[in-house]
Amino acid sequence: MKLHEHQSKEIFARHGIPIPRGKVAYDAESARDIAKQIGQPVVVKAQVLVGGRGKAGGVKLAQTPDEAEKQASAILGMDIKGLPVRKVLIDPAVSAKSEVYLGIVIDRAQGAPVIIASSAGGMEIEEVARVSPEKIIRETIDPVLGLQPFEARELGYGIGLDKKLVPEFTKIALALYRVFVETDASLVEINPLFITNDQKLVAADGKLVIDDSALDRHHDLEMLRDADEETPAEREARKAGLSFVKLDGNIGCMVNGAGLAMATMDVIKFYGGEPANFLDIGGGARADKVAAALRIILSDPNVEAVLLNIFGGITRGDEVARGIVEALNQVKTDVPMVARIVGTNAEEGRQILASAHLRTAESLEEGARIAVEIAKSR
Ligand code: GDP
Ligand code: MN
Repeated sequence: MKLHEHQSKEIFARHGIPIPRGKVAYDAESARDIAKQIGQPVVVKAQVLVGGRGKAGGVKLAQTPDEAEKQASAILGMDIKGLPVRKVLIDPAVSAKSEVYLGIVIDRAQGAPVIIASSAGGMEIEEVARVSPEKIIRETIDPVLGLQPFEARELGYGIGLDKKLVPEFTKIALALYRVFVETDASLVEINPLFITNDQKLVAADGKLVIDDSALDRHHDLEMLRDADEETPAEREARKAGLSFVKLDGNIGCMVNGAGLAMATMDVIKFYGGEPANFLDIGGGARADKVAAALRIILSDPNVEAVLLNIFGGITRGDEVARGIVEALNQVKTDVPMVARIVGTNAEEGRQILASAHLRTAESLEEGARIAVEIAKSR
């Protein structure tokens, strides 16, 4: 789960990281009021859950409350990378000498968090990695010991910080690591961390991604979820406990197991088709879960055919088949479907589907070929 910039920075501030003290506005008039309260030049910043807002015109300086109102009204009407801007953050503007990057992510290969810093702050770290990788310094964090002050100091010196700034930088890095651990984050990022003209450090942008599997123990963070940023299909999938990613193709896929779902998408592509989604119903899925999955797939108007690929292990073929039939009773559709079921109770499953007039395939290849043909002919 991604948090908005203003939410991330509030959490940073609670851990002692200096941030500009701004406020969120949902309309241009309140943006003006906030700018007036702040009483100095402000930045008006689109709050959408994507990076690169600056480049897209979603971050603007305003010298006066009038100007803040004008900027806010322009930004509130924007779409950034497909996401409509519904709120803006009004922050006191900072005059900065330079911009630094500081972030922590999980390094899966090492099975440990890694802290990353760069003197090339302000631009996306992926871009820095591409054009000037020598400007990126990283340090693997021992998960048992946690980030050590000397490691944070090394990082500060490593990116060429003025010696006088290193203690403050160290404090911020240690606080950021506490945020990372305490929120069960998969990523925290300050980009840019400003070095101000009067030699202070300020976190001007914040990003925090919480590991979804840890949300059960962070109900306070779960409350911050922005329902507007989730599509209805994503919401239903999350509530039903399904892993779902919408894609741009026209062949809906329902599969048990993430690896099998990937393989299914590959085979569809191999036969010239385009999957409309990734959907893993998980192991041992029962009829109601299957019905939810089918509803989600069919709610996508692009879907011209559905391929069901079930490998029965813990998941029983007859259960899945009953779920499909149940779902078809709930959702009236003329989208053709083809099912491939193998493994536990596959024969029973095929019989249930056949008596509901659903097409079945003997193999994944056959199923994929049929789905591609159908999707192309419609
Ligand atoms: P992003 O593009 O989505 O990462 O949004 P950021 O919050 O990082 O803003 C993009 C850029 O706008 C930053 O890298 C800064 O260069 C600039 N910026 C943001 N806030 C301020 C500010 O208070 N003062 C100044 N001078 N520039 C700012
Ligand atoms: Mn940024």
